[in-house]
Amino acid sequence: MVGPSDLGKIAICPARIPFPTKSSGRGGHRDGSGGTAFTKEGTKLHKYAENWMLRVIDKELIDSPEIWMNELSNEEKNRIGRAAKRLVRIVSNQKKPDFEIVYIKPEFEIRNKKISSVNINGDVDLIIELRNTHGEERRIIVDWKRTLKKKRTKEYDYQLNFYDELVQQKRSKQDCVKYLIGVNEESEKKIVKVEDSQLDSLEEVIQNWKGQKTNPSLQNCGLNCPRFATESRCEDAELPSLIEISSNYKRIAFREKNLSINVWNSIATKGVYNHKEWGATLTKSKTENSVFVENIEDEGALCDVEGFATVRTLPEMKKEIEIVIKSIIIQS
Ligand code: SF4
Repeated sequence: MVGPSDLGKIAICPARIPFPTKSSGRGGHRDGSGGTAFTKEGTKLHKYAENWMLRVIDKELIDSPEIWMNELSNEEKNRIGRAAKRLVRIVSNQKKPDFEIVYIKPEFEIRNKKISSVNINGDVDLIIELRNTHGEERRIIVDWKRTLKKKRTKEYDYQLNFYDELVQQKRSKQDCVKYLIGVNEESEKKIVKVEDSQLDSLEEVIQNWKGQKTNPSLQNCGLNCPRFATESRCEDAELPSLIEISSNYKRIAFREKNLSINVWNSIATKGVYNHKEWGATLTKSKTENSVFVENIEDEGALCDVEGFATVRTLPEMKKEIEIVIKSIIIQS
């Protein structure tokens, strides 16, 4: 089984997630149990939005978005009030000039949708359908996001486009506008209108997933890839080497294949290595743990290392590269 959020990751690079075998089924349904503090918070915010919409439906107010805000409880108003206002604005605009809201479904379920032998399960946060007197129809799909960053990968956009495709198959083909709405006030972006992607069909995306085709790029690999610096690290990962990172004080994921075990041991044990050729001091981060580098006889052996680095320029024009070593493979 797979959920649309995983499909979003797979659309970016099919090798990000292993194709499931019979013994490694994946679940795509959010059930609210377990998870980190962040995912729990996200589930809570989704629940507020769902309960609010259920009240609107219950009170038969679906075609009156101008009074939906009155249906928020005080707690909901505190937690999702601004996001709710954004939704009301979107829906009111979509009603123009003469559309009526005919259907609302929070947590629209997609269950056991089989595409190329893969079962897709997921919940679309909210779908709203409108119709006018001429029989024209339009649909709004909303995905509530706890936080929305300004700089983000296309993952969420792909996810929403898959939702659109799946909802069309389950209900009917309609013009659809799709929105990501940031719920938390720390959200850098409040609303993003997602355009139709030029993506392959779900069928093709799943075929590529089966083939585990890699799609390396500086944008795709790194922090957003679940295989970054893990045991299943990806041979094709494209990340900058330490020398390619500019002095910008930002934490950047790197992959360095040109330094010997001697250098890494010096950083791991003494905390510093002075690289004369680079005119740089490589230092071990004091705030984050690095993995331990073994002492082996061949000190000249090169290593394939992934981690984070922060590069600063020192007053005498030397560079300081502060490093966290996340994974290290000694090349034989
Ligand atoms: S490291 Fe890059 S190429 Fe490899 S799985 Fe991740 S995104 Fe794909």
